[in-house]
Order: sequence, then C-alpha cells, then structure tokens
Amino acid sequence: MNDVVIIGAGVAGTYIARELARYQMKIVILDKENDVANQTTAANSAIIHAGYDALADQLKGKFNAPGNAMFDQICEELDVPFKRIGSLVIGFNENDRKTLVKLFENGLKNKVPDMKILDRDEVFALEPNLNPAVTCALYAPSAGIIEPWELAIALAENAMENGAELKLETEVKDIEKTADGYKVYTNKGELVTRYVINCAGVFTDIINNMVTEPTFKIHPRKGNYFVLDKDVDNLVRHIIFQCPNENGKGVLVTPTVRGNILVGPDSEFVEDRDSLATDGDRLNYIKETALISFPKLPFNKVIRTFAGLRATSDLGDFIIEEAKGAKGFINVAGFESPGLSSIPAVAQYVVKLMEEITGGLRKKEDFVPTRRKVIRFNQLSDAEKKRLIKKNPDYGNIICRCETVTEGEIIDAIHRKAGACTVKAVKKRTGAGFGRCQGGFCGPRVVEILARELGKPMEEIHYDSSRAYILTEETKK
Ligand SMILES: Cc1cc2nc3c(=O)[nH]c(=O)nc-3n(C[C@H](O)[C@H](O)[C@H](O)COP(=O)(O)OP(=O)(O)OC[C@H]3O[C@@H](n4cnc5c(N)ncnc54)[C@H](O)[C@@H]3O)c2cc1C
Repeated sequence: MNDVVIIGAGVAGTYIARELARYQMKIVILDKENDVANQTTAANSAIIHAGYDALADQLKGKFNAPGNAMFDQICEELDVPFKRIGSLVIGFNENDRKTLVKLFENGLKNKVPDMKILDRDEVFALEPNLNPAVTCALYAPSAGIIEPWELAIALAENAMENGAELKLETEVKDIEKTADGYKVYTNKGELVTRYVINCAGVFTDIINNMVTEPTFKIHPRKGNYFVLDKDVDNLVRHIIFQCPNENGKGVLVTPTVRGNILVGPDSEFVEDRDSLATDGDRLNYIKETALISFPKLPFNKVIRTFAGLRATSDLGDFIIEEAKGAKGFINVAGFESPGLSSIPAVAQYVVKLMEEITGGLRKKEDFVPTRRKVIRFNQLSDAEKKRLIKKNPDYGNIICRCETVTEGEIIDAIHRKAGACTVKAVKKRTGAGFGRCQGGFCGPRVVEILARELGKPMEEIHYDSSRAYILTEETKK
C-alpha cells in the first residue's frame, strides 16, 4: 500500500513530492506524459514574481512573496540556475502612476521587500532602452527568472533520491474510495494508497470529480509567446511589465536565464485542454503591445513561438485544501500564475495539511536535500574544460553548436534519475536545441545518442509524445 499518490509531475507535484520525501512515507508520482514538466510548467513566463499584484486576501497573495523568498535556497540545494534580476512595472501617465501606487500598497500588505516607485531618470538608469515616453515605474528587486522545467526535473530527481517513485506515461482514468484510502485506476493498472494529492494542472477538476461532487471548474486560458535570439542581449535588463489590466499582468518583456528575450503572453479562454497551438493574430497583438515598452525590440530575431495553458478556476484563486467529502484527498488546483513563484510556500502548506490529516508525519533521518551537480560545459573556464575532457572525452564532443552542449552532458541527462528519453527531454535538461537553429543541426545527433544510450531503434525515439515521431523506417539499407 502506498501512503501518497501524487497525480501530476509538474512543478506542483514534484515540489510537494520532494517536501514529503523528508518524511517516512511511500510516495508515488504519476504523470500521463513521458517526461516530468511537460505541460504548463514547460510553457509559461518563467518569472518568480515579487508578489505585489496578488491580492492580499487571497491564497495567491498569501503564498507569493514567501515562496519567492525561498528560491535562493532551493535553487542552491538542487543546482538550478536562478537570477534575481528585479522587475519594473512601467507607467506613462498620472493614471498609471496611481495604479503603481495601488500595486505598491498591495505589495506592502504582502510584505514584498525593497519596492520603490521610481521617477523617470531612475527608470532609465536601470533600463535605458525603454520607450522614452515612460514617466515612472514600480521597481521590485526581489523578482527573478528561472527555467521552471529544470526546477521540476531537479525536484523529481531529488524526491527519487529520497525514495519517491516516478511513473511516467501513467494516466489516471478513475479513482475509487476504499475503506482505508483510495484505489487509483490508470492505463497501467491500479494503485492503492491512503492519500491522494491532485496536482493535475488544467485537469484538476476532472480528477477531483472522480471522487467527489464538482466544487470548481477549470477554464484553460492560453498565452502565446515569442522567444528572441541571444544576440539582442542587454537590450532588456529587467522583467518589464506594463500596468495590469482586466486580463492580468499583461504583456511582459524579459531576459531568460539563458540570455534570450521572452515576449508575451496574451490571454484567451479555450475549450481544448491539450491545444498548445500558437495563433498569428494573437502573436501580432503581443508584438504591437511589447513595442510600446521597447520600440526597438527586433522581431526579426524571433527564433521560436510557443503557447501555454493557465489552469484558471471559476473560484478565482488557488484551491489548496482537502476536497469536500473526500478525506485524505488534497487538491492543488486553480494553480495559475503566480503558482510557480508560490510553490515553495504552497508545498510547505501541503505538508502541514498532511500532518493534520495523518495525525503527524515522522521525519527521515537520512533525507538528502541536494542533488549531484549538473555539468554545464559552456559555463566552465578553459582550464576546467580541458580537465573535464581529459577525464571524459565525451565532453570534448560538441553536439549543439548554438548552445555549446556536449555529448557528455546529454549522456548524463539520459542516465540521471527522472532521465531524458525524448529529444525535447534532452533539450529541457541540457539546452541542446534551444539556440538559433532550434535543433536543426543537433536534433539528428541527439536521436542517435538517445537510441544508443537507451538501447532502442532510432524509429522509437520521439521528439516529445509518442505521436511526435521523427523517423518511421529506413529508406536505404
Ligand atoms: C501563460 C502562462 C504564464 C505563466 N507565468 C507564470 C509566471 O511567470 N510566474 C509564475 O509564478 N507562474 C506562472 N504561470 C503559472 C505556472 O506556470 C503554474 O502555476 C505552474 O506551472 C503549474 O504547475 P502544475 O504542476 O500545477 O501544472 P502542470 O505543469 O500542468 O502539471 C500538471 C501535470 O499533471 C499531469 N496530468 C494531468 N492529468 C493527468 C492524469 N489524468 N493522469 C496523470 N497525469 C496527469 C499533466 O501531464 C501535467 O504534467 C504561468 C502559466 C501560464 C500558462
């Protein structure tokens, strides 16, 4: 019998699994996808928000700023790149200034540290390439940037190092209450468990409704994005928002951890919970809006567009509680922005809920909070590179030339816990394919390495899901 089944291996499920792995429990994480963090956690703005816009009387306001403050420690422990570059909400007129004052006051309620409303000169000292018409801005130095999928992968790896089990390509089809817990039916058989934690993203209402009456509904809300090439580096130095509107935080422009520029998102309610297709008209709207912030943003440098789905609930806030009428079944739902920023604090809260529900959790003496460091070849000095290649010549073989990713890094990504088994999974872990050619050059090499390391024929190596095949058969023997 399992103690906890966590449904969903996005950042919510993996963070909670890692925090519960501190205790003596048998934990299983299930995900229908073939990799950790393949849904919303893989497609969002990747901002660790400071917490001034989340309403103070909501769970979003309660968890955002405390969650933000915990990122230095978790990223240090799990060797995940994280940069506190600060954010600016820019204003163009007196009305905007009033909005900034309201955000500032809300931020004070949420205990956001070191915020300041800047006048024009102070703004341009920080961000010289903004639209010259900008007159003021709310500065929040605690805002940061991260690769959310890398955090989730690291959390899954660390949870597994501490005893949790990860079952991918395992879709929950139904759940039944039993005398002492739940029976979870999947496409790969049944699991019995005392407790269930529902972290299924845009599917959380469907999972909730398997065990109890509907109490909330998820309306997926799509956001499209552009990614710009790295050679526009330094044009944008902070996370730049315009004043928020009825659709939320609006279109932002930000550097990414890898040094690209990310522009987006828009906001559109959609029916299809699986559709990640981008939309030309919506991208045009994003482009026009972003040019108001940075008139010189070079949209001829776009290397990729993508879209993600927010798990917006009809209750308007995070839902983090035991489901009504389902003892021992916890929902982590409605987990839209600032979910990523809040998750460290939310995971601690879920542990507290579990303590109350179980009557007390017993700590493991041998919990290991760190994971084995990841070698990032392109960040090493020449001397370090030389030493590494001497020890392991696979690090002397560059596979992705845009991002300088070596064969050694790809092999390591495949063989770690929660390891990569698709081309996209290698990209998420190593950066191979993130660059200007978007995998045009390294993609076939990555397929070869995956096939060799996993002992599979190349036709069985997919880009992403099993529907995203790359090769079907040999044409010439
Ligand atoms: C456009 C956009 C921008 C955002 N920007 C930010 C931001 O800048 N900062 C911020 O803090 N937050 C942001 N967010 C929110 C943030 O991305 C989410 O809060 C977070 O990623 C949600 O993680 P999750 O684990 O709940 O969901 P997911 O990552 O979607 O994980 C859910 C998992 O459940 C699995 N699953 C679903 N159904 C089943 C089933 N039946 N059986 C098994 N597995 C199942 C899925 O495969 C998936 O892997 C943004 C979101 C979007 C869409």
